[in-house]
Amino acid sequence: MSRDDPLPPYLQDIEAVLVDPEVADSRLALRVRERLPGREWRVADPDTLPADQHPRIQAHHDPEMAQDQETILYLKHYKGSFLRFCPGTRQYRCCGYRIAHVGENCPIGCAYCILQAYFQDRVLKVWANQNDLFSELEKAFSADASMRYRIGTGEFTDSLVLEPITGYARDLVAFVSRFPNVRLELKSKTADISWLDAVHKPETILPAWSMNAPLIVDTFEGMAASLEERLASAKACAKQGLRVCLHFDPIIRFQGWQHGYAETIDMIFDHLRPEHIAYVSLGSFRFMPELKGVIQARHPKAAFIYEEFVTGLDNKQRLVRPLRVEQFRFIADKLRQGGLDQELYFCMESDQVWNAVLGRTVGDLPTKALDTHLLDLAFQDPTA
Ligand code: SF4
Repeated sequence: MSRDDPLPPYLQDIEAVLVDPEVADSRLALRVRERLPGREWRVADPDTLPADQHPRIQAHHDPEMAQDQETILYLKHYKGSFLRFCPGTRQYRCCGYRIAHVGENCPIGCAYCILQAYFQDRVLKVWANQNDLFSELEKAFSADASMRYRIGTGEFTDSLVLEPITGYARDLVAFVSRFPNVRLELKSKTADISWLDAVHKPETILPAWSMNAPLIVDTFEGMAASLEERLASAKACAKQGLRVCLHFDPIIRFQGWQHGYAETIDMIFDHLRPEHIAYVSLGSFRFMPELKGVIQARHPKAAFIYEEFVTGLDNKQRLVRPLRVEQFRFIADKLRQGGLDQELYFCMESDQVWNAVLGRTVGDLPTKALDTHLLDLAFQDPTA
């Protein structure tokens, strides 16, 4: 593979593109072909391929096999539902986010990434039948104009990681501008803002960046953009009149975490004013039990998996509550000093934690529900 590649580093390892025959002539496939020259291009239904060539055949828990799978981009004719509820947990306060499902997996390689245990394989997949996606979304969004949607593409992949070759976010940005009842969140660890000039209604798009302590970003977030690059992109979006979202998730415990998270929050307020920020989520590192073995095998330096964890009501491992609360309090207090308060919320936490950190529960919010509170924040007029 040529390393004179103009693509960002996290896309340079793609060696082959597998395309379902039904979408071989789709606009998206043609675009990918043009933007990924020199790669093997194979039009075939994977289920007709010999077993040793099937992209899902190898066990993803084996680090070498997983790496092989990440060199394949699969443009799929997706037959499932494109608009979904986020797989939140009934036992904890969930934010009611809806997923526009556009693909699966991610080449950035964060050590803690839950997708390593969530999917059967590590193949990068994009749903290339975009017309089906747009029809389904259009039907939902126009059925009742008074129904507000906060949707995002960053649950099963990074929203912008494949943008240089698919232009998917750019297409979605243009599409969503037709629906005043929709806000699209683009959640990423890249600094890609190539789609920004396609935004004609800034209030409809909420670019979102993951935030973490510099040590975690530099050590455990693979080929992600630096904090400085992410915040420079956030600032560029704010300059264009967009509000941005920030996600402190996963918050990780390590020696010196106070200093690290404080540094990140100082950087945030060096780049953004509180009115540029729609909302900020706080989520502690939590994982399905299967993820631990994957992290041990693939990221042996990730000592944070040996902290004091307990099994939550959702069967996920999470840091014991006093330690979670200590970190949340520290981060929330610093963010409050910077001028944020109602914009803060927790991902998958109980009323006890809400109360201990913010002195209020979801029931104390003006809307009495987290999903409507976040909708209110997402739909706030940026010029007001
Ligand atoms: S950027 Fe997000 S989706 Fe990609 S590897 Fe990191 S945590 Fe996973």
